[in-house]
Amino acid sequence: MLAAVTRSPGVMVVGQVPEPGPPGPQDVIVRPEAVGICGSDLHFYSGDTGALSGARSFFPRIQGHELSAVVEQTGKDCPGGVRAGDRVAVWPLRGCGRCYPCRAGRANACVSLDLVGIHRDGGLQQLLSVPVSQVFGVGDLGPEPAAFVEPMSIAVHALGRAGIPDGQQVIILGAGPIGLATALAASAAGARVMATDPVPARRDLALKVGAENVAWGGDGELLDAVQAWTHGQGAPTVIDTTGDPGALAQATRLVCSAGRVVVVGMSAAAAPLRSGVFPEKEIDVLGSSCATAADFRAAVALVQSHREAIAALFSHRFPLTHAREAIECVADPAAGAVKVLITVGGPEL
Ligand SMILES: [Zn+2]
Ligand SMILES: [Zn+2]
Repeated sequence: MLAAVTRSPGVMVVGQVPEPGPPGPQDVIVRPEAVGICGSDLHFYSGDTGALSGARSFFPRIQGHELSAVVEQTGKDCPGGVRAGDRVAVWPLRGCGRCYPCRAGRANACVSLDLVGIHRDGGLQQLLSVPVSQVFGVGDLGPEPAAFVEPMSIAVHALGRAGIPDGQQVIILGAGPIGLATALAASAAGARVMATDPVPARRDLALKVGAENVAWGGDGELLDAVQAWTHGQGAPTVIDTTGDPGALAQATRLVCSAGRVVVVGMSAAAAPLRSGVFPEKEIDVLGSSCATAADFRAAVALVQSHREAIAALFSHRFPLTHAREAIECVADPAAGAVKVLITVGGPEL
Protein backbone atom coordinates (compact mmCIF):
# COMPACT_ATOMS: atom_id res chain seq x y z
CA MET A 1 0.00 0.00 0.00
CA LEU A 2 1.00 3.62 -0.45
CA ALA A 3 2.28 5.86 2.38
CA ALA A 4 4.03 9.20 2.78
CA VAL A 5 7.04 8.45 4.96
CA THR A 6 8.99 11.24 6.64
CA ARG A 7 12.36 9.49 6.56
CA SER A 8 14.35 12.23 8.27
CA PRO A 9 13.82 15.96 8.88
CA GLY A 10 12.78 17.59 5.61
CA VAL A 11 12.69 14.32 3.65
CA MET A 12 9.25 12.91 2.85
CA VAL A 13 8.96 10.11 0.33
CA VAL A 14 5.75 8.61 -1.02
CA GLY A 15 6.17 4.91 -1.67
CA GLN A 16 5.07 1.38 -0.87
CA VAL A 17 4.98 0.09 2.71
CA PRO A 18 3.69 -3.24 4.07
CA GLU A 19 0.00 -3.44 4.98
CA PRO A 20 -0.88 -3.98 8.65
CA GLY A 21 -1.73 -7.60 9.39
CA PRO A 22 -5.12 -8.65 10.80
CA PRO A 23 -6.27 -6.42 13.70
CA GLY A 24 -5.43 -7.29 17.30
CA PRO A 25 -8.44 -8.34 19.43
CA GLN A 26 -9.19 -4.74 20.52
CA ASP A 27 -7.89 -2.96 17.43
CA VAL A 28 -9.52 -1.85 14.22
CA ILE A 29 -8.03 -1.49 10.76
CA VAL A 30 -9.18 1.78 9.21
CA ARG A 31 -8.82 3.24 5.74
CA PRO A 32 -7.84 6.92 6.12
CA GLU A 33 -9.82 9.32 3.90
CA ALA A 34 -8.81 12.88 4.72
CA VAL A 35 -5.88 14.06 6.85
CA GLY A 36 -5.49 17.64 8.07
CA ILE A 37 -2.01 19.13 8.17
CA CYS A 38 -1.23 21.59 10.93
CA GLY A 39 1.62 23.67 12.30
CA SER A 40 2.82 20.83 14.51
CA ASP A 41 3.16 18.59 11.43
CA LEU A 42 5.35 21.25 9.91
CA HIS A 43 7.49 21.47 13.08
CA PHE A 44 7.83 17.70 13.09
CA TYR A 45 8.66 17.58 9.38
CA SER A 46 11.34 20.23 9.90
CA GLY A 47 12.87 18.21 12.74
CA ASP A 48 11.80 20.79 15.34
CA THR A 49 10.65 18.19 17.87
CA GLY A 50 11.93 20.20 20.86
CA ALA A 51 8.40 20.93 22.10
CA LEU A 52 7.48 17.23 22.07
CA SER A 53 7.81 15.14 25.19
CA GLY A 54 10.65 12.73 25.78
CA ALA A 55 13.99 12.12 24.14
CA ARG A 56 12.61 9.69 21.61
CA SER A 57 13.59 8.82 18.11
CA PHE A 58 10.86 10.07 15.81
CA PHE A 59 12.10 9.07 12.34
CA PRO A 60 11.19 7.45 10.05
CA ARG A 61 7.54 8.26 10.65
CA ILE A 62 4.27 8.26 8.72
CA GLN A 63 2.70 11.53 9.83
CA GLY A 64 -0.98 12.49 10.07
CA HIS A 65 -2.81 12.95 13.39
CA GLU A 66 -5.96 14.76 12.18
CA LEU A 67 -7.76 12.06 10.29
CA SER A 68 -11.07 10.72 9.17
CA ALA A 69 -11.28 7.11 8.09
CA VAL A 70 -13.63 4.26 7.31
CA VAL A 71 -13.47 1.14 9.45
CA GLU A 72 -12.25 -1.76 7.33
CA GLN A 73 -12.03 -4.59 9.86
CA THR A 74 -12.63 -4.95 13.60
CA GLY A 75 -10.76 -7.18 16.07
CA LYS A 76 -12.63 -10.03 17.72
CA ASP A 77 -13.02 -8.31 21.11
CA CYS A 78 -14.16 -4.91 19.80
CA PRO A 79 -17.47 -3.62 21.15
CA GLY A 80 -20.41 -3.94 18.74
CA GLY A 81 -20.81 -0.16 18.43
CA VAL A 82 -18.00 0.03 15.89
CA ARG A 83 -18.65 -1.77 12.60
CA ALA A 84 -16.90 -2.17 9.27
CA GLY A 85 -18.04 0.62 6.94
CA ASP A 86 -18.47 3.21 9.73
CA ARG A 87 -16.83 6.58 9.19
CA VAL A 88 -14.77 7.57 12.22
CA ALA A 89 -12.48 10.30 13.49
CA VAL A 90 -9.33 9.06 15.21
CA TRP A 91 -8.50 10.39 18.68
CA PRO A 92 -4.71 10.24 18.30
CA LEU A 93 -3.84 10.05 21.99
CA ARG A 94 -2.99 7.28 24.35
CA GLY A 95 -1.46 7.71 27.80
CA CYS A 96 0.83 5.34 29.70
CA GLY A 97 -1.78 4.81 32.42
CA ARG A 98 0.87 4.93 35.16
CA CYS A 99 2.16 8.50 35.52
CA TYR A 100 0.60 11.15 37.76
CA PRO A 101 -1.48 12.88 35.03
CA CYS A 102 -2.75 9.52 33.74
CA ARG A 103 -3.77 8.44 37.24
CA ALA A 104 -5.43 11.84 37.73
CA GLY A 105 -7.60 11.24 34.63
CA ARG A 106 -5.55 13.64 32.51
CA ALA A 107 -3.85 11.33 30.01
CA ASN A 108 -3.74 14.31 27.62
CA ALA A 109 -0.81 15.56 29.74
CA CYS A 110 0.85 12.12 30.09
CA VAL A 111 4.62 12.32 30.57
CA SER A 112 5.12 9.66 27.91
CA LEU A 113 2.33 10.70 25.61
CA ASP A 114 1.84 8.49 22.59
CA LEU A 115 0.24 10.23 19.61
CA VAL A 116 -0.77 8.71 16.30
CA GLY A 117 1.17 10.49 13.56
CA ILE A 118 3.93 11.66 15.90
CA HIS A 119 5.09 8.87 18.21
CA ARG A 120 3.64 6.10 16.02
CA ASP A 121 2.60 5.97 12.38
CA GLY A 122 -0.41 8.04 11.39
CA GLY A 123 -2.94 8.70 8.67
CA LEU A 124 -0.78 9.36 5.61
CA GLN A 125 -1.12 5.75 4.47
CA GLN A 126 -3.90 3.67 2.97
CA LEU A 127 -4.49 1.41 6.00
CA LEU A 128 -3.86 1.99 9.69
CA SER A 129 -4.34 -0.17 12.79
CA VAL A 130 -5.55 1.66 15.93
CA PRO A 131 -7.09 0.59 19.23
CA VAL A 132 -10.89 0.64 19.00
CA SER A 133 -10.91 2.99 22.03
CA GLN A 134 -9.35 5.65 19.76
CA VAL A 135 -12.02 5.70 17.05
CA PHE A 136 -15.17 7.79 17.36
CA GLY A 137 -18.13 7.37 15.01
CA VAL A 138 -19.07 10.61 13.26
CA GLY A 139 -22.49 9.61 11.87
CA ASP A 140 -23.24 11.18 8.49
CA LEU A 141 -20.35 13.69 8.57
CA GLY A 142 -18.32 13.80 5.37
CA PRO A 143 -14.62 12.86 5.35
CA GLU A 144 -13.38 16.47 5.33
CA PRO A 145 -15.31 17.84 8.33
CA ALA A 146 -14.60 14.54 10.14
CA ALA A 147 -10.89 15.29 9.74
CA PHE A 148 -11.52 18.57 11.60
CA VAL A 149 -12.76 16.81 14.75
CA GLU A 150 -9.19 16.52 16.08
CA PRO A 151 -8.34 20.26 15.86
CA MET A 152 -11.80 21.01 17.24
CA SER A 153 -11.04 18.76 20.23
CA ILE A 154 -7.98 20.93 20.98
CA ALA A 155 -10.31 23.95 21.10
CA VAL A 156 -12.82 22.14 23.32
CA HIS A 157 -10.08 21.22 25.78
CA ALA A 158 -8.69 24.78 25.83
CA LEU A 159 -12.17 26.13 26.57
CA GLY A 160 -12.55 23.62 29.37
CA ARG A 161 -9.34 24.95 30.86
CA ALA A 162 -10.56 28.53 30.39
CA GLY A 163 -13.90 27.84 32.10
CA ILE A 164 -15.60 30.82 30.46
CA PRO A 165 -18.99 31.72 31.94
CA ASP A 166 -21.82 32.38 29.48
CA GLY A 167 -21.69 35.79 27.83
CA GLN A 168 -18.15 36.59 28.98
CA GLN A 169 -15.57 38.23 26.74
CA VAL A 170 -12.64 36.16 25.51
CA ILE A 171 -9.70 37.19 23.35
CA ILE A 172 -8.26 34.52 21.07
CA LEU A 173 -4.73 35.27 19.92
CA GLY A 174 -4.21 33.78 16.46
CA ALA A 175 -6.84 32.90 13.85
CA GLY A 176 -5.20 29.85 12.32
CA PRO A 177 -7.15 26.57 12.38
CA ILE A 178 -6.88 26.14 16.18
CA GLY A 179 -7.71 29.79 16.87
CA LEU A 180 -10.67 29.59 14.48
CA ALA A 181 -11.87 26.33 16.03
CA THR A 182 -11.58 27.98 19.46
CA ALA A 183 -13.48 31.05 18.25
CA LEU A 184 -16.23 28.81 16.87
CA ALA A 185 -16.47 26.65 19.99
CA ALA A 186 -16.38 29.66 22.34
CA SER A 187 -19.08 31.51 20.38
CA ALA A 188 -21.20 28.35 20.24
CA ALA A 189 -20.88 28.13 24.04
CA GLY A 190 -22.19 31.69 24.42
CA ALA A 191 -18.93 33.59 24.90
CA ARG A 192 -18.23 36.93 23.19
CA VAL A 193 -15.10 36.55 21.10
CA MET A 194 -12.43 38.94 19.83
CA ALA A 195 -9.82 37.30 17.59
CA THR A 196 -6.44 38.75 16.64
CA ASP A 197 -4.33 37.85 13.62
CA PRO A 198 -2.02 39.73 11.24
CA VAL A 199 -3.68 38.13 8.17
CA PRO A 200 -6.88 39.97 7.07
CA ALA A 201 -8.39 36.83 5.45
CA ARG A 202 -8.03 34.98 8.75
CA ARG A 203 -9.70 37.83 10.63
CA ASP A 204 -12.61 37.58 8.15
CA LEU A 205 -12.87 33.86 8.82
CA ALA A 206 -12.94 34.54 12.57
CA LEU A 207 -15.99 36.76 12.05
CA LYS A 208 -17.56 34.02 9.91
CA VAL A 209 -17.19 31.38 12.64
CA GLY A 210 -18.76 33.60 15.30
CA ALA A 211 -16.28 36.20 16.62
CA GLU A 212 -17.99 39.55 17.25
CA ASN A 213 -14.77 41.53 16.93
CA VAL A 214 -11.32 41.22 15.36
CA ALA A 215 -8.20 43.31 15.81
CA TRP A 216 -4.58 43.59 14.79
CA GLY A 217 -1.78 46.08 15.19
CA GLY A 218 1.25 46.85 17.31
CA ASP A 219 1.11 46.19 21.02
CA GLY A 220 -0.30 49.64 21.78
CA GLU A 221 -2.99 49.45 19.10
CA LEU A 222 -4.05 46.00 20.21
CA LEU A 223 -4.23 47.10 23.83
CA ASP A 224 -6.34 50.12 22.77
CA ALA A 225 -8.72 47.88 20.81
CA VAL A 226 -9.11 45.53 23.78
CA GLN A 227 -9.58 48.43 26.22
CA ALA A 228 -12.28 49.90 23.98
CA TRP A 229 -14.04 46.53 23.69
CA THR A 230 -13.88 45.77 27.43
CA HIS A 231 -14.60 49.31 28.74
CA GLY A 232 -11.04 49.73 29.97
CA GLN A 233 -10.95 46.48 31.95
CA GLY A 234 -9.03 44.01 29.80
CA ALA A 235 -10.59 40.67 28.98
CA PRO A 236 -11.39 38.07 31.65
CA THR A 237 -10.00 35.33 29.40
CA VAL A 238 -7.19 35.29 26.82
CA ILE A 239 -6.40 32.11 24.88
CA ASP A 240 -3.11 32.01 22.99
CA THR A 241 -3.16 29.72 19.97
CA THR A 242 -0.24 31.33 18.12
CA GLY A 243 2.85 29.42 19.21
CA ASP A 244 4.53 32.82 19.09
CA PRO A 245 6.91 33.09 22.07
CA GLY A 246 5.95 36.75 22.59
CA ALA A 247 2.25 35.97 22.87
CA LEU A 248 2.29 35.04 26.56
CA ALA A 249 3.65 38.46 27.55
CA GLN A 250 1.05 40.06 25.30
CA ALA A 251 -1.70 37.95 26.87
CA THR A 252 -0.71 39.13 30.35
CA ARG A 253 -1.14 42.73 29.15
CA LEU A 254 -4.55 42.11 27.54
CA VAL A 255 -6.08 40.06 30.35
CA CYS A 256 -7.93 41.86 33.14
CA SER A 257 -7.07 41.55 36.82
CA ALA A 258 -8.21 38.21 38.26
CA GLY A 259 -8.48 36.94 34.68
CA ARG A 260 -7.15 33.79 33.09
CA VAL A 261 -4.69 33.08 30.30
CA VAL A 262 -4.73 29.70 28.57
CA VAL A 263 -1.72 28.77 26.44
CA VAL A 264 -2.41 26.31 23.62
CA GLY A 265 0.19 27.33 21.03
CA MET A 266 3.52 25.54 21.37
CA SER A 267 7.00 26.92 21.06
CA ALA A 268 10.41 25.76 22.21
CA ALA A 269 11.64 29.38 22.23
CA ALA A 270 12.09 31.59 25.31
CA ALA A 271 10.54 35.04 25.60
CA PRO A 272 10.92 37.79 28.19
CA LEU A 273 8.07 38.11 30.61
CA ARG A 274 7.59 40.57 33.49
CA SER A 275 6.81 38.18 36.34
CA GLY A 276 5.38 40.93 38.57
CA VAL A 277 2.25 40.96 36.44
CA PHE A 278 1.13 37.63 37.95
CA PRO A 279 0.69 38.88 41.54
CA GLU A 280 -0.25 42.43 40.47
CA LYS A 281 -3.19 41.20 38.43
CA GLU A 282 -3.57 37.89 40.28
CA ILE A 283 -3.98 36.12 36.98
CA ASP A 284 -4.21 32.39 36.35
CA VAL A 285 -1.99 31.08 33.57
CA LEU A 286 -2.87 27.57 32.43
CA GLY A 287 -1.48 25.31 29.76
CA SER A 288 -3.72 23.20 27.57
CA SER A 289 -2.42 20.00 25.99
CA CYS A 290 -4.18 17.88 23.37
CA ALA A 291 -7.66 16.66 24.35
CA THR A 292 -9.36 14.00 26.44
CA ALA A 293 -11.79 11.39 25.10
CA ALA A 294 -14.67 13.48 26.47
CA ASP A 295 -13.36 16.56 24.64
CA PHE A 296 -13.11 14.49 21.46
CA ARG A 297 -16.72 13.33 21.80
CA ALA A 298 -17.86 16.93 22.33
CA ALA A 299 -15.83 17.97 19.27
CA VAL A 300 -17.69 15.44 17.09
CA ALA A 301 -20.99 17.07 18.09
CA LEU A 302 -19.65 20.61 17.49
CA VAL A 303 -18.37 19.73 14.02
CA GLN A 304 -21.70 18.03 13.22
CA SER A 305 -23.62 21.20 14.09
CA HIS A 306 -21.28 23.68 12.31
CA ARG A 307 -20.51 21.96 8.99
CA GLU A 308 -20.89 25.03 6.83
CA ALA A 309 -18.63 27.29 8.92
CA ILE A 310 -16.01 24.56 9.09
CA ALA A 311 -16.10 23.90 5.33
CA ALA A 312 -14.96 27.51 4.84
CA LEU A 313 -11.70 26.72 6.67
CA PHE A 314 -10.47 24.14 4.13
CA SER A 315 -8.21 26.18 1.89
CA HIS A 316 -6.11 23.58 0.06
CA ARG A 317 -6.38 19.90 -0.86
CA PHE A 318 -3.63 17.58 -2.08
CA PRO A 319 -3.63 13.86 -2.93
CA LEU A 320 -1.42 11.54 -0.85
CA THR A 321 1.06 11.40 -3.73
CA HIS A 322 1.65 15.15 -3.21
CA ALA A 323 1.89 15.05 0.61
CA ARG A 324 5.16 16.99 0.64
CA GLU A 325 3.55 19.87 -1.26
CA ALA A 326 0.81 19.95 1.38
CA ILE A 327 3.40 20.46 4.15
CA GLU A 328 5.21 23.08 2.08
CA CYS A 329 1.89 24.85 1.53
CA VAL A 330 1.41 25.14 5.32
CA ALA A 331 4.96 26.50 5.57
CA ASP A 332 4.56 29.16 2.88
CA PRO A 333 2.92 32.36 4.15
CA ALA A 334 2.28 33.45 0.54
CA ALA A 335 0.05 30.39 0.00
CA GLY A 336 -2.57 31.84 2.36
CA ALA A 337 -3.28 28.39 3.80
CA VAL A 338 -5.80 27.91 6.58
CA LYS A 339 -6.59 24.19 6.88
CA VAL A 340 -4.72 22.06 4.36
CA LEU A 341 -6.09 18.57 3.70
CA ILE A 342 -4.52 15.50 2.18
CA THR A 343 -6.93 13.12 0.49
CA VAL A 344 -5.67 9.62 1.07
CA GLY A 345 -8.17 7.46 -0.76
CA GLY A 346 -8.41 9.40 -4.02
CA PRO A 347 -9.03 7.74 -7.41
CA GLU A 348 -5.43 8.38 -8.54
CA LEU A 349 -4.16 5.69 -6.15
ZN1 LIG B 1 -2.82 19.13 14.49
ZN1 LIG C 1 0.93 8.66 31.55
